[in-house]
Amino acid sequence: MAAGLTALGLNAREAASAPRAELLSDFLVRLIDVVGEFAPPSDDGDLDRFTRALRGYRAIAADARQEDALERATEACVAECTAYFKASRTYARDREREWTELVGILQEAARLSLGHSADFNAQVLASSQRVETIAQLEDIRDLRRRLGDEVTGLRRAVAEKQKREDEQFRALNKRVESLQVRLAELEVEVALDPLTKIANRGSFDRALVQMVAAARRKDTPLGLAMIDVDHFKQINDTHGHQIGDRVLLCLTQKLTKAVRTGDLVARYGGEEFAILLPGTTATEVEQRLRALLAEIAAATFAYKSLGEEQYIRFTVSCGVTHLQPSDSESDLVARADDALYEAKRKGRNRVVARKPSLLGRMLGK
Ligand code: GH3
Ligand code: MG
Ligand code: MG
Repeated sequence: MAAGLTALGLNAREAASAPRAELLSDFLVRLIDVVGEFAPPSDDGDLDRFTRALRGYRAIAADARQEDALERATEACVAECTAYFKASRTYARDREREWTELVGILQEAARLSLGHSADFNAQVLASSQRVETIAQLEDIRDLRRRLGDEVTGLRRAVAEKQKREDEQFRALNKRVESLQVRLAELEVEVALDPLTKIANRGSFDRALVQMVAAARRKDTPLGLAMIDVDHFKQINDTHGHQIGDRVLLCLTQKLTKAVRTGDLVARYGGEEFAILLPGTTATEVEQRLRALLAEIAAATFAYKSLGEEQYIRFTVSCGVTHLQPSDSESDLVARADDALYEAKRKGRNRVVARKPSLLGRMLGK
């Protein structure tokens, strides 16, 4: 008892000399002070109310000179303290549950972002280290507040990361779109001859396969003409390579004007051109090309060199055929080429047609 009184600030001499009521009053006042100082946290309002109640009991205890009044105040104060401590245990259990939830949210945030940006991972790591420190705090209210801050920080980091990823995604999308446009442009570039801007050899080969298949499927004719500029080397030698190019452009214009929709004019190579004419027999191609050759041969092309007007006339030779049932794509081209060389041999500026004989047609050749 004496040791307990000493702990509450009463020495043995005081205890022995003071009257009983006064002694109890003093003891009760000091006890209330200790309880107030070490009252465990509860809901903020509860602690305030409890502190106010304690102050009330303290005032009664300090004033009371009657043992009865002191006893009543003591009993009421004990009941108040018991109720408060019980409530604060419930409060602590609730806070522990909240704390577990907060930690759960932290873990969830960390899981969501696992394996992403280095910055973000560093942030989550730092946060989890702070959470460890926070977990060592004894004041549950402080812990709650600090954990709340951490969760807010992590939520913000997740939101910012999401924003960054959205921006990256948008930038990537834009890049993909511009690449798609570029790809489409390249596809066109790859398909065209750079000088004349008509189909090149690659496009011709692809179109040939498709048109042969379509002609077979629909059982319709497919005509082919191979056209080559006569003595083109001489044109280059006389007028220069650039003028040679202009002759090729001029011929391209004439050829594309002479064909129908669905026909394909291609630069086969050098000064050689090819025309695929779906639905057209060799005889029809021959007629149309004859007219065109006559028109080309009759034309004069003028250009200026060193201020002087220069004139060029040129002719072309042409080999014509159409698809046979037994033809491969290369058979068809070889036959038109063969006809072209016959046109060259026969003196140029002419059309030679390779038409299948009636017997051949009957035999499917
Ligand atoms: P042939 O009547 O037998 O066809 O005689 P050719 O002179 O037309 O034929 P050859 O094969 O002897 O010469 C073709 C020339 O075409 C040679 C080459 O330098 C030229 N040539 C090929 N491509 C181009 C081009 O894009 N531009 C120019 N200017 N010349 C070209
Ligand atoms: Mg030639
Ligand atoms: Mg040639």
